[in-house]
Amino acid sequence: MDDAKRFAEGTLVIASHNAGKVVEIADLLRPFGVQVKSAGALGLPEPDETGATFVENALLKARAAAEAAHLPALADDSGLVVPALGGRPGIESARWAGPKRDFALAMQKVEDALARSGPGGTPPRDRRASFACALALCWPDGPCSTFEGDVRGTLVWPPRGTKGFGYDPMFRPDGHDMTFGEMDPAGKHRISHRAIAFRKLVDACFERC
Ligand code: IMP
Repeated sequence: MDDAKRFAEGTLVIASHNAGKVVEIADLLRPFGVQVKSAGALGLPEPDETGATFVENALLKARAAAEAAHLPALADDSGLVVPALGGRPGIESARWAGPKRDFALAMQKVEDALARSGPGGTPPRDRRASFACALALCWPDGPCSTFEGDVRGTLVWPPRGTKGFGYDPMFRPDGHDMTFGEMDPAGKHRISHRAIAFRKLVDACFERC
């Protein structure tokens, strides 16, 4: 994006109440000397995610945080997209974990739905999936830029690994034997949907220190 507004210096709000995401985003921003604060730590309200796409929801969250904090705000909306389930859980990925954010339950729901998703309620021919990420950077005076990334892979069962968060233990990215749940954070950060969207964001909006 050629006309994206660049982040000069100061504090950037990470418009997320998801601790796993906040840690990953703070790690990815570390080389740029940006001071980050999470929406949770600032006590900002969580807007309803009423958008129909990852991009719409990222914009909703970044706009709400930028307006409430009077600071630039970065939001991530992301999720697991399973073609055999018509793209679900997709933008509902967090909701599938229920109010207690139980991702063992969410992964079980994906597996149960997948097991019935083939012809006549049989297992599907393939277990392809992708993680998708949309990032939105909004400024308190209005302008916003958005960036997208995705990573393709296969769903494994049972889940493997205790690293990462969310659906990581059941997602094995293409070209790798380990699931995201088994990879070190640095390995995941090199190839993840969020890293791909981040590279686009950084090229457009951040200077390396
Ligand atoms: P939201 O973007 O806050 O609506 O939530 C996205 C949900 O998608 C998260 O709560 C996770 O369940 C899932 N998700 C997004 N990115 C990842 C990832 O990198 N690994 C595992 N799960 C993810």
